[in-house]
Amino acid sequence: MSATASVSAGPTASTTGPIRITDISIEQLSLPLDPPFHANWDPTPRTRFPATVVRIGTDAGITGVGGGDTLAGIEPHLHHLLGTDPLAIERQVRVLETIDLHGPRPWPLEAALWDVIGQVTGQPVATLLGGMTDRIAAYASTGAAKSATEHAEVARHVRDRGFRAIKLRVGARDRGTAIAEVAAVREAVGDALEIMVDLNQAWRMAGDTTDPIDLAEARRFADAFAELDVHWLEEPLLARDLPGLAQLRADARVRIAGGEMTRTLDEVLAALDADAYDVHQPDVVLAGGLWRGRTIGELAIRRGRRYSPHTWTDGLGLLANLHVAAGVGGGPFLEFPYDPHGWTPDRRDFPLAAPIDIDAHGYLVVPPTPGLGIHLDEDAIARTRVGGVRAELDEGTVTLQELP
Ligand SMILES: [Mg+2]
Repeated sequence: MSATASVSAGPTASTTGPIRITDISIEQLSLPLDPPFHANWDPTPRTRFPATVVRIGTDAGITGVGGGDTLAGIEPHLHHLLGTDPLAIERQVRVLETIDLHGPRPWPLEAALWDVIGQVTGQPVATLLGGMTDRIAAYASTGAAKSATEHAEVARHVRDRGFRAIKLRVGARDRGTAIAEVAAVREAVGDALEIMVDLNQAWRMAGDTTDPIDLAEARRFADAFAELDVHWLEEPLLARDLPGLAQLRADARVRIAGGEMTRTLDEVLAALDADAYDVHQPDVVLAGGLWRGRTIGELAIRRGRRYSPHTWTDGLGLLANLHVAAGVGGGPFLEFPYDPHGWTPDRRDFPLAAPIDIDAHGYLVVPPTPGLGIHLDEDAIARTRVGGVRAELDEGTVTLQELP
């Protein structure tokens, strides 16, 4: 199906800059997961993994690529970008913030804009965002529920594969079992790995109305994890309970991390003002974008806190978060979704020509090429595509075409 919409291009089209956005394509992909992946924070085992590839074309012949969230429902908003200057990033981000209010989380579009900017300037995005470092140590971020014995086996595997840190997902309903699982990992790997623990209490998957634990219970977890020398305790309370988080943080002998699904910069500023977290984790493709993510990182670091964005999406989202974190000097660890129990790099990065991996020292290295350094596997994209849309600007008129 194709349709011609009677909307004009963005309001500031033809006012600044020599480069214009001419077309945007959004491809929706879906990878079957057989066997399914059962994330510890999701009541429903996942039988498919959706991914989205965004391409922003320009009249300079440069195409920027981004991804990391689905962009479902973005179609009515794309005309705001067509005809505008991809390099005018503050203006673009303000437009995307208005879309974020009325539609889906639009930040994969900003990732693609930065890929354009990097190619225009001939620099990696991390360099444009500050160039503080070109590598960050990865932590293997596990996701499946498992027994203490299985947690220990995975931790030994992760250590032997060259990681310096691991994140465990443990249930918050049964403190004794959760602590035994973390203790088993500490016993298995000694001090060879830093251990992070995620209780996933800040928010819920759609449809899950389970209550979170309260402050008293979170304190008991924090005490136990401090004894096990846990590096950080992630999302121990509801994200909106900033007073509770601040109280927990003030007393705890373990770092408190959170903020991954924050929607706006203002929510992050409130968390910073409340001093709710030692480690701020807004994901640049889910929560506020890359440009604001850099600001969040700078403010956190400036206040003596840490910036380590969440990045449990796919390889395109991982690259976006890596560039921002490296540019602003985030870390000392960055999330690397990895779990032999169902979350392998092949699955995670299926739209890419090759999965992203750590180097021999356990670091994620910023690709040295201009832009984000995304290399797509066009065959895999064609094989897994379940739909999409292409918006094009033709003499001031926007054409929207559905992709099969
Ligand atoms: Mg988390």
